[in-house]
Amino acid sequence: MTETKPGRRRPPKFELIGGNVCLDFINTLDDRPSDKPKELLTNYYELARFGEDTGILTPEQLDFFFERVHLMPDEAADALRRAINLREAMYAVFAALMNKQTVPRAAMDTLNAYIQDAALHSRLVPSEGRMEWRFDDLTSSFNAMLWPIARAAADLLASSDLAQVRACSSPTCQWLFLDTSKNHHRRWCSMQQCGNRAKVRRFYARRKTAG
Ligand SMILES: [Zn+2]
Repeated sequence: MTETKPGRRRPPKFELIGGNVCLDFINTLDDRPSDKPKELLTNYYELARFGEDTGILTPEQLDFFFERVHLMPDEAADALRRAINLREAMYAVFAALMNKQTVPRAAMDTLNAYIQDAALHSRLVPSEGRMEWRFDDLTSSFNAMLWPIARAAADLLASSDLAQVRACSSPTCQWLFLDTSKNHHRRWCSMQQCGNRAKVRRFYARRKTAG
């Protein structure tokens, strides 16, 4: 019997424009450059929703966690803290590389600890003539959904794609994304969010100087 992929039960919550799950994860702190960054991961439910939106967790795995968060609140809160710790370490590493600065040692050590944890919980398995990484059961702990995120960061950081990681040109946004456009000239996280706003601003600025 073939397994049918279960349909989504919830509308997506996160704007996934990063082109890589680790960049989308970094973008869960919104308005990062402002004095009031907006935390999108305010509780474990939000973190698990991010997991489902990005395909890390199946809807069934999300249900599993939703049913357990209130039974194990300390574990869930700890996992959320660890998630944010990983996210900020990843951001520090990517930001340093993009700005051609020295990568902070503490952030690198933190990220490496998560990558090592992910490695402990994954193995190579044959799949259709090649090999793929497979993780242990992602419902085995509240932290488990961080494994694929840490692995994605490791793969991206050690790949030639790293040169295509950009920050959105809007100074108030600076979401990170992987520029896979043909000429590598993508400037905005998304045209709807930032590109159009900048275009509108330029239009009005021109009219002002013209008038
Ligand atoms: Zn943007």
